[in-house]
Amino acid sequence: MPAELRISGSDERVAVGKIVGVGRNYAAHAREMGAAPAGEPMLFLKPASSVIGDGEAIVIPPGVGEVHHEVELGVVIGARCSRVLAGEALARVLGYAVLIDVTARDLQAAARKQGLPWTLAKGLDTFCPISAVMPAAQAPDPASLALRLLVNGELRQQGKTADMLWSVPALIEFISARITLERGDVIATGTPQGVAALVPGDLVEARIEGVGALRCTVASGEPPRQPFQPC
Ligand code: MG
Repeated sequence: MPAELRISGSDERVAVGKIVGVGRNYAAHAREMGAAPAGEPMLFLKPASSVIGDGEAIVIPPGVGEVHHEVELGVVIGARCSRVLAGEALARVLGYAVLIDVTARDLQAAARKQGLPWTLAKGLDTFCPISAVMPAAQAPDPASLALRLLVNGELRQQGKTADMLWSVPALIEFISARITLERGDVIATGTPQGVAALVPGDLVEARIEGVGALRCTVASGEPPRQPFQPC
């Protein structure tokens, strides 16, 4: 079964395509990672197979070291588009969701040191919880949203999308000038400061006012194996 996102307030679902992650889109988070904010958006991909939904478990496999939460605004694209100008970009958005860009920080640090891609640090199974999608027409302005993430009831991350270095329209313009976006693609727009480790047994709660909420538990072990389906 391909990963699907539920649309809030309806029975409709949308199949997840690619997930385009944006690194260092909040200056304070770039600084806490020891990096200067980049001159243009820094992009990476997470596979659709990493997506889980509300109420599911983030599963930390053996040997990956420290794993961090990154709460982000997820932007779900509504129609195939390329070379979209910022001024028309929001018309391409199906809706918005709460997304946690779970990151294997030790694997990422090792990859950075060796100049290797972040694929394993960002793309492991269960490493992309996404809430139901709030349709764009019912969501507030994506430039004025408040994000929060709590672990076991303790506030860990609090930020506002107004602090993004590249706004949602700017990101859609930048990405779609280089990579065609399709219905069901998701942009993970970057995280505010306060990223920290998750450990098995944690309860993670993330919320974006006017968009939605997401609750996930954290477990260790091997993520559930997909049932065999004949080709
Ligand atoms: Mg991130």
